[in-house]
Amino acid sequence: MQPGGRRAGDPGRRGPGPLPVQGVGLTAPEALPPAPAGIEVVGVDADDTLWHNETYFAEAAATFAEILAPWAPDGEDVRARNDATERRNLELFGYGIKGFTLSMIETAVEVSDGQVSGEAVGRLLELGREMLAHPVDLLDGVADALARLAERHRLVLVTKGDLIHQEQKIARSGLVELFERIEVVSEKDEATYAAVIDRMSVAPERFCMVGNSVRSDVLPVLALGGHAVQVPYEITWSHEQVPEADGGFPVLGSLGELADWLASAR
Ligand SMILES: [Mg+2]
Repeated sequence: MQPGGRRAGDPGRRGPGPLPVQGVGLTAPEALPPAPAGIEVVGVDADDTLWHNETYFAEAAATFAEILAPWAPDGEDVRARNDATERRNLELFGYGIKGFTLSMIETAVEVSDGQVSGEAVGRLLELGREMLAHPVDLLDGVADALARLAERHRLVLVTKGDLIHQEQKIARSGLVELFERIEVVSEKDEATYAAVIDRMSVAPERFCMVGNSVRSDVLPVLALGGHAVQVPYEITWSHEQVPEADGGFPVLGSLGELADWLASAR
């Protein structure tokens, strides 16, 4: 990992090629729809919503390309190759840095036709280890925003990824006491959210999820009759990209805007 970047935080899920997100906070407040009344429970995503994550995967992917450069054929886009490897492995490895690390090694072996050195593989393992040990770096204003949300709502954290790593990040974040429940799940789909909403003993129409990913934090909750708000992060993992996804849900510039928006319900 590159030291001293503008983000210092903790990587979480996985991380193939990040793509630019289509603008953070482009929606003017006056363009927001009216807030739903009676929201009792707010579900909060963790990676790239509470703390930086995807940026570390992007940095690691750049380092991976440097390490592999001596073995990469001319014109080979090793980052794209690694994205493909990681996606292929998701079902077996799940989300997170450990799966990402194994995929980097697999890609290195493939791209080098088995010639990559043990020393280079060791550097890839070290890269993964550094990502796992990285400190949690909260996004600006998150602690205050969550505290304000907790004054009027019950909060549940909903995150996917390596169980141990996510638990460590949550513990290090200093935010754990603001949440009534912590849910570390293997996939954020409709079935998962239905179970979470059930465990919170709340009706879907009184549940609002907030997160950076349209695919994982917004669409499955809307499909259940719940409410969802996107707060985009500066980059979005390609796996989380949903083409033509805009529309039908509010997009806020920060978590802090959510408390104001929900409080404006009448
Ligand atoms: Mg996220």
